[in-house]
Amino acid sequence: MSFESALVIAGAIILSVGLYYSFMIVSILRKQNMAIAWIVLTAMIVFFLLAFVLYALQTLGFITLTIPIESITAFVFFFGSIFVLILTVVNSRLFIDLFGIRLSDKEAILKFAKFIDIHPFFLQSRMSPEYTITCDACGKNVKYSIPDIVRSHPNLERGVKIEEAMGTVNYTFFLRHRCEGAIREIPVTHDEKFEYRSKRASRIL
Ligand SMILES: [Zn+2]
Repeated sequence: MSFESALVIAGAIILSVGLYYSFMIVSILRKQNMAIAWIVLTAMIVFFLLAFVLYALQTLGFITLTIPIESITAFVFFFGSIFVLILTVVNSRLFIDLFGIRLSDKEAILKFAKFIDIHPFFLQSRMSPEYTITCDACGKNVKYSIPDIVRSHPNLERGVKIEEAMGTVNYTFFLRHRCEGAIREIPVTHDEKFEYRSKRASRIL
């Protein structure tokens, strides 16, 4: 057996393990309706596996393909780059969701002021640099600031709810907190002067 055949067979075994995990990821994501990218990636792994097997069978002399082996390799290279592109885009979204986006306090304040349509100066003069609440699950103190809320929600509409009632405005922030190995979201309500008012039951993300 040539070195190339051995390498491709080893690659096919490793890919099969990868395929098992990709099926697992699809089954987890299907429940959240977020599986499309991973269904595409899984189909690509199946394609790579098939190409690897054809390559190995050809180099071992079991079959004679009508297309040259270089074409198979070129296809694997090309789809390999698409695979990497999809994977990095999907992962960057996941990491932004988990860890938030990088913004300075000033940038975050500007973004939030624009979102709720007030002047950044008023926001900065009214808000506290830091707030503290107690987590209803672990009982620990959780510190947060308005820039923290902005950073943890790249899509601010999912992190801040504006409620207008009887001439006043309330803001509910969905505060993310790392709680005993999980990420917990605690809805905290602030009044229009950005003073803390109340919190609701938290939930695990
Ligand atoms: Zn907690």
